[in-house]
Amino acid sequence: MIKRIGIIGLGNVGQATVRSIIKYSSLIARRASVKIEIKGLCDVRKAKGKFAAKFSLPFTTDAEQLINDPDIDIIVELIGGNEPAKTFITKALKAGKSVVTANKSLLACSGREIFSLAKKYNKAIGFEASVCGAIPLIKSISEGLVSCQVNKIYGILNGTTNYILYQMAKERIDFSNALREAQGKGFAERNPVLDIEGKDTLHKLCILTYLCFGVWPDPAKVYTEGISNISLLDILYAEELDYHIKLLAVAEKERGKLNLRVHPTFLSEDHPLSETSSAFNAVFLDTEPAGDLLFYGQGAGGAATSSAVISDIVSISLDGKSNLRKEIRVKFRNIDDTASRYYIRFMAQDKPGVLARISRILASFNISIASVSQKERGRKKTVPIIMITHDVKERDMKKALAKIDALPEIKYPSQKIRIEDL
Ligand code: NAP
Repeated sequence: MIKRIGIIGLGNVGQATVRSIIKYSSLIARRASVKIEIKGLCDVRKAKGKFAAKFSLPFTTDAEQLINDPDIDIIVELIGGNEPAKTFITKALKAGKSVVTANKSLLACSGREIFSLAKKYNKAIGFEASVCGAIPLIKSISEGLVSCQVNKIYGILNGTTNYILYQMAKERIDFSNALREAQGKGFAERNPVLDIEGKDTLHKLCILTYLCFGVWPDPAKVYTEGISNISLLDILYAEELDYHIKLLAVAEKERGKLNLRVHPTFLSEDHPLSETSSAFNAVFLDTEPAGDLLFYGQGAGGAATSSAVISDIVSISLDGKSNLRKEIRVKFRNIDDTASRYYIRFMAQDKPGVLARISRILASFNISIASVSQKERGRKKTVPIIMITHDVKERDMKKALAKIDALPEIKYPSQKIRIEDL
């Protein structure tokens, strides 16, 4: 079977997809009896025409030419961002073409709309590459686990932030040095905000929530905290306590409500997710009846991600179906109502009575302390005070820390990191 595709966006993933289709064409044909024919390539940058010319492939700077080409069966959108990607996908579906996309940001914000359009026009959307790059997670959940109930998702879904936290711990460097290093090695973009503030992780969590729990959450309402406030001190104290700090995406169904959140987390060093090194991704699923499952692999990189894009092209060619889920109504739990153990760090002036004052405020919010340690004096005459709490409601923790931060002896905003007992 021959499938004709047009690729819009010749960046990292777009170029790698072209190379992989050419390199592995006989393998794909042998395994799936599908011949992928690239009918056209598009990029806004004229200079990318040279890349197309290298493979003797037609090139245009106008995406509409591919979308309106009657010879093209599948449009592969690899430009990223919300617009004009959304317009291109919408027009492609209306023109009777299936779509493959790696665009997590667009799906997180407009997935419901795009998927209902696909349904209306009876076309497929492939989005394997939108979550965890090369890891075949979407297919595993939607097909391999079709009979399973997912109770919880814990995911390290962003390679950039995992690389930064990993390097901070390994090289004993602070956040800004680790970020610079990640940018130098191509693991972080020049504008890293989407990654380090947890937005990219949030977008992927929204897609997984749709697949596992059958509902598109509103990304603006999901509690999201990035890693830019994590200091080397926190990483070192975590190690002392046998934990690693990871940026975690969490989705869990509790008493009929869905609890979604993205935040740095203390994870026991014995948990397999803690082992996720460098720029790798890992997703841990608690399911019934399949039990616990761990997916691990390269979450980014053009070449690795191209395998997910190609797998979607082949799947659509074979059965033309999408991983569409029927949406159900689900209530969401407010983050303020969730409870967790916490690591808290205060930077306090080394004066008598400070610890007692902090403890009194915590007690007034019923926050009970499991352990406390006062560390050696810092250069600025502030001392780190480290506490581990028992389970505390987020609402109480926020109020207590606001009061503590207002004390004259507290010189820097307090740090709080949830401890996830997996
Ligand atoms: P990229 O390197 O920035 O490439 C995107 C290309 O599309 C650029 O050449 C860009 O040109 C071009 N473009 C932008 N607007 C266009 C338009 N209107 N028409 C035609 N071309 C246009 O991005 P990427 O890293 O390949 O990522 C592509 C998608 O894959 C994104 O959705 C991303 O989130 C997703 N993804 C990426 C990775 C990864 O490792 N990179 C992994 C998983 C998923 P300009 O440079 O001029 O804007």
